[in-house]
Amino acid sequence: MGKNEHVVGSFQLMKSINKSLILNIIREEGEISRAEIAKMTKLTPPTVTNLVGELLTEGIVLEGQTGPSSGGRRPIMLSVNQSRYYVLGVDVGIDSVRYVLIDLSANIVVKKEKALPPQVDGDALVEILSENIKLLLEEENMVREQILGIGVGMPGIVNYQTGFCEDVELLDIQNLPLKERLEAALNISVIVENDVRATALGEKWFGNGKDVSDVICINIGHVVDAGIILNNEMFRGENGIAGQIGHTLIDMNGHQCSCGRIGCLQSIASHGGIKYAVKEQLDAGRETSIRDAIAGDENNINGKLVYEAAKQGDQLAIEVINKVGMYLGIAIANLIDVINPQRIILSGGLSRFDSILKDIHQVLDERALSEESRNTQIVLAHLQDNATVVGAATLVLNEFFLGDLVGN
Ligand SMILES: [Zn+2]
Repeated sequence: MGKNEHVVGSFQLMKSINKSLILNIIREEGEISRAEIAKMTKLTPPTVTNLVGELLTEGIVLEGQTGPSSGGRRPIMLSVNQSRYYVLGVDVGIDSVRYVLIDLSANIVVKKEKALPPQVDGDALVEILSENIKLLLEEENMVREQILGIGVGMPGIVNYQTGFCEDVELLDIQNLPLKERLEAALNISVIVENDVRATALGEKWFGNGKDVSDVICINIGHVVDAGIILNNEMFRGENGIAGQIGHTLIDMNGHQCSCGRIGCLQSIASHGGIKYAVKEQLDAGRETSIRDAIAGDENNINGKLVYEAAKQGDQLAIEVINKVGMYLGIAIANLIDVINPQRIILSGGLSRFDSILKDIHQVLDERALSEESRNTQIVLAHLQDNATVVGAATLVLNEFFLGDLVGN
C-alpha cells in the first residue's frame, strides 16, 4: 500500500468515526439540533451539517419538530429513524433457540422460541438457524436490506472477532465457524458472542446496567459464567476466556464438572449441580418428597422441582438449594474483591429462586472484605427472559452506533 492510499484511508475512517459519533449522540439525546451536536462534538457546524446530511439521505436520521429558540431562528430537531433498520437477535440454549426481531430502539417486533433437537451437531445447528431466520423474515415481510445484522449469543467460548465457536458448552459442538457459515447462508452480517456477554451488553444498553460503567452480569442456570464490562467496554481477556467463573475451583474435594475437572463452581451451583446432589442422596436411600415427585425417573430431577420441594419444607431440597446459594455467595464475594464493580446483575433460571438470592446476600453480609464490598448492588436482569436474546441483537446495535458498520 502506498503512502497516499494510507492517508486517504485514514481520512475516510476519521469521517466515518465522526458520523457514528453524531449518530450515537442523536440516539442518546433522543432529539437534538445541529448546533447542539456541534457544541457537544466540537466539530465545526459545516462538518456537522454535511454528516447529518448523509445520515438524512441514508434515512437513518429524521428531521422533526423545531426546538426552542435561543434568540435566533428556531432549530430543527433531529432524531433516529428507529424503523429504518431492524436487527435480529438469536439466543442458542441447551434445548431451544430464541429469536427476536427489534428496531433500532430495541422495541420487539416479534419473538419466537423453537425447540432444538437432541444431540445437534455444528452442521445441523447452522442449518436450523439459517432456515428459521429465513422463515421469520419471510413471515414479517422483511427484506434482507432492512436487516442491519444478526447477533448470536452462544454458550461457551466464542472468538468475538471471528465468530468462531471453540467449544459450545453442554452441546456437542466444537470448532464451528458460525459467523462465516451463517453469513454465507443468509448474506447478512453476523456477530457471534458468548451468551452472558450478550446479556451484559443488553443490560448495559437497555436494562439495569444503563447508569453504571463497571458492571458484571452473572448467568446462573445450566451454565455459570460472567460478562464483565469495565469502563463501558466488554472485558474479554487475552484469549477471550475472561468471565468463566463457573469453572473456578470452589471445592477441592468436590465432584467432576462438565469440563472434566474436579470441584468447579458450576458442578455445584447449576441445574446439573442440583441434579447431581439430589441423585447422590436418593441413591443413598435418603427420605425425601422428591422421590415421589419424580415418579422413579431421575431424569425428572431439575432445579425448579427441587426449589419447589424446598419451599414445601423438604429437608434435602432445602440443603441442596442452600448450598447453591452459599457457594454462589462465596464466588461473588471473591469476584467483588478482585474487580470491585459498581453493580452485579444476575440472570438465568436459578437467579429467579428467592432463597438463592437470600443466601448469596447472607454470605456477602458475613464474609465481604469491607463495608463497600458488602454494599455492592446485586440486582436481577431487567430484561428477564429476553435478556440474552435482546442482548444478542444489541451486539449489532453496539457495532452500528459505536463502531464499524457505519460508513462502510
Ligand atoms: Zn468446570
